[in-house]
Amino acid sequence: MVQKMLKFVSLDRETPEKRAADDRSRDFDEIYRDYAAGKAADQAARCSQCGIPFCQSHCPLHNNIPDWLKLTAEGRLREAYEISQATNTFPEICGRICPQDRLCEGSCVIEQSGHGTVTIGAIEKHITDTAYAEGWWEPIDPAQELPESVAVIGAGPAGLSAVDALRRKGFQVHVYDRHDRAGGLLTYGIPGFKLEKDIVMRRIEQLRAGGVSFRLDCSIGEDLAFEAIRDKHEAVLIATGVYKARDIGGPGAGLNGIAPALDYLIASNRKSFGDRVPEYEDGTLNAEGKDVVVIGGGDTAMDCVRTAVRQGAKSVKCLYRRDRANMPGSQREVQNAEEEGVEFVWLSAPKAFVGENRVSGVRAVRMRLGPPDVTGRQSPEEIPGSEETLPCDLAIKALGFEPEDLVRMWGVEGLEVSRWGTVKADFRTKETSLPGVYAAGDIVRGASLVVWAIRDGREAADAIARRLTTQSAARVAAE
Ligand code: FAD
Ligand code: SF4
Ligand code: SF4
Repeated sequence: MVQKMLKFVSLDRETPEKRAADDRSRDFDEIYRDYAAGKAADQAARCSQCGIPFCQSHCPLHNNIPDWLKLTAEGRLREAYEISQATNTFPEICGRICPQDRLCEGSCVIEQSGHGTVTIGAIEKHITDTAYAEGWWEPIDPAQELPESVAVIGAGPAGLSAVDALRRKGFQVHVYDRHDRAGGLLTYGIPGFKLEKDIVMRRIEQLRAGGVSFRLDCSIGEDLAFEAIRDKHEAVLIATGVYKARDIGGPGAGLNGIAPALDYLIASNRKSFGDRVPEYEDGTLNAEGKDVVVIGGGDTAMDCVRTAVRQGAKSVKCLYRRDRANMPGSQREVQNAEEEGVEFVWLSAPKAFVGENRVSGVRAVRMRLGPPDVTGRQSPEEIPGSEETLPCDLAIKALGFEPEDLVRMWGVEGLEVSRWGTVKADFRTKETSLPGVYAAGDIVRGASLVVWAIRDGREAADAIARRLTTQSAARVAAE
């Protein structure tokens, strides 16, 4: 049935059904269900098909949103899928975990006329989930095999989106990652209730089946030298993400029972894969029956509090030094966490950890927001005499990540880094100061988003392909 567009005037915004908090808090399955039959088409038909689609310009991948919305509304899902996957390597992943309220949906014009935004992310997810269910996706089958080989260090979204593009062109692609599973933070950072693991593993199997070689459990700089990789391949992409966790010092910081966020999330994700995880089994990284305090206000903190709820914590508090309006994490995730029973202690910062050998409390001081600084952001300042101690058997530090010192770890000369330690790469081509070495994703941007990592990876792949094709043409001409 062909649907008319512009239905936003008569049809309200409706997201896919969200599982009830007491049901979803008991497992690590995704909390949103798919649209019931016909719902995605109805919701897509709310789009007004703007002549200048701001949704598209605010999507880092410039997805052709109005086109795939129209095709979805018309029931032409296979064509919608073709268009959607032409600009996005992992649309079903972005549809699930992009902070749409800050990107595409945040710029949807119908909201300004008092109507809810088009549910772009949920429809993007629906299109590719349907393509998989119907078997429409095409295996990677390059038209020709090219002799040049490319090394990709890091199998997160930046690395994998480059891998996909390069392999489709016929290059020999070799991925190196220090974890035992590929996927980067998609696999071991982001919990299953936001992104189920089989969605990620299915993509990796598809790459493997398409001829990509994965060397896992291989840390560059430890198990294999960076120069050895450079010697072996015609081009190298560094896509190693950022993993140096910001820390808190102060009294009691060395007590047992204080864990870095990523250790905690990796242990939990490993359990979901069915792995043996000694630190989980002995209680070190398990919130069951505990009073948990998570320190931080970003997406990582949100993932930690909601993981603790699912592990059966006695209480879960999130301590953040600014207020709700000034937190970096997505408002959607805060709301989800509150529904699941998390208590947010806004305008509060840790001063000390209390306890003998193990932590038994977090001493926190109340904060207020002072005058705005040069960036316009209000700096928090302590309210003297306002300290209180929150009971705590497990404290989780989620204060953000910085790049590791690659130059030192890899002993590589000539690789330029910024004063923040991120690798310097050309804005467009992603080439670093070392010829033939490219960099993409968080290691260039600092901690960012999956959708930006995908964009960087795709752009790096294009530049690498151009370089190798030009070199090969020059070689043939010289022969
Ligand atoms: P990564 O995903 O970090 O992948 C880097 C890979 O490189 C890893 O597999 C690592 O093992 C490997 N590696 C590192 N060093 C070496 C080495 N020396 N040798 C070999 N391999 C190495 N973004 C969103 O858009 N939405 C979200 O909801 C969201 N939630 C998040 C939740 C958490 C807990 C965290 C930590 C981040 C979240 N992000 C989210 C951010 C997002 O995950 C990152 O921006 C994105 O994964 C960056 O991609 P990347 O490929 O650059 O790096
Ligand atoms: Fe929106 Fe992200 Fe999809 Fe772009 S990739 S359309 S920002 S959900
Ligand atoms: Fe449709 Fe909203 Fe994009 Fe306009 S901004 S094309 S209404 S999704």
